[in-house]
Amino acid sequence: MSMIRTEHLAKSFGELVVLKDINLTVESGEVVVIIGPSGAGKSTFLRSLNNLEKITSGKIFIEDKLFYHRENDRTVDKMEAKQHKDLLLEMGMVFQQFNLFPHLTILENITLAPVMLKKMTKDQAKEKAMELLKRVGLEEKAEAYPVQLSGGQKQRVAIARALAMNPEIMLFDEPTSALDPEMVGEVLDVMKDLAESGMTMVIVTHEMGFAREVASRVIFMDQGIIMENGTPEEVFTNPKNER
Ligand code: ADP
Ligand code: MG
Repeated sequence: MSMIRTEHLAKSFGELVVLKDINLTVESGEVVVIIGPSGAGKSTFLRSLNNLEKITSGKIFIEDKLFYHRENDRTVDKMEAKQHKDLLLEMGMVFQQFNLFPHLTILENITLAPVMLKKMTKDQAKEKAMELLKRVGLEEKAEAYPVQLSGGQKQRVAIARALAMNPEIMLFDEPTSALDPEMVGEVLDVMKDLAESGMTMVIVTHEMGFAREVASRVIFMDQGIIMENGTPEEVFTNPKNER
C-alpha cells in the first residue's frame, strides 16, 4: 500500500509558482528525505500533504484513498469529511520551531491533543505520554515546562507529542535546523530509532550524513520540481543533475 501519492501536484501563491507537477509515491515504511536549496518549495510541499496549504491543482492520495483533488484552485473531489479528518490525524508533523505550549507542562503538551480529540481518556493519554517520553529519553522531564528544556529536548518532546496521536506517517520540516550543533545528534537519534521501527517518514533536512544512513530514498527538489529521486547512493554519488 502506498501511504502517500501525489499526482501532478501544483501550488502557486498568486503569480508565484512554487510547486510544479510533483508526482511522488511514498510506500509504507519508507523514509523519504527531501533536500534542496532554500525556496525550492520543500516546506510548501510538506504543508500541502497535510492540508496546511491548499494546493492549486493535482491529486493527493493517502493510504491509496483519494484525499483531495483540485484544479485551478477549485476543489473537484474530496473524500467525505469524517474520513478526511481521520486520515489527516494519521499524519504527525514536526516543525523547525518546536511549537510547544509554554504554559503547559511537557506531559500536558503531549496529552492535550489525544484527550481533546477524544482519541484517549486522560489516563490512557498520560500512560502513553510517559511511554513516549521514555522512548525519547525524557521521562524525568514530564512535569517540567518547555522553558526549562534545551532545544534538543524540546524537539524530542515535539516528536513525542506527534507520536501520541498514533500517526501512520510522520512529516518533519527541518527538525534540527534551529538547534545548536551539539544537540542535533540526539534528535537525529530519535528519528533514526523511529525509522527503524518501521514508521513511514518524509523528512526535509540538510543533514546529509543522516540522509545517507537512514533514507530509503532521497529527493532533490529545486524550483518546485523533483530533480532527482533515488536511493542515497544514486542521488549523492551518481546524480543526473550537477547540483
Ligand atoms: P523551502 O522550504 O524549500 O525553503 P518554501 O516552500 O518555504 O521553500 O517556499 C517556496 C517559495 O514559496 C518561496 O519563494 C516562498 O517565499 C514562497 N512562499 C511560501 N509560503 C508562502 C506564502 N504563504 N505566501 C506567499 N509565498 C510563499
Ligand atoms: Mg522550508
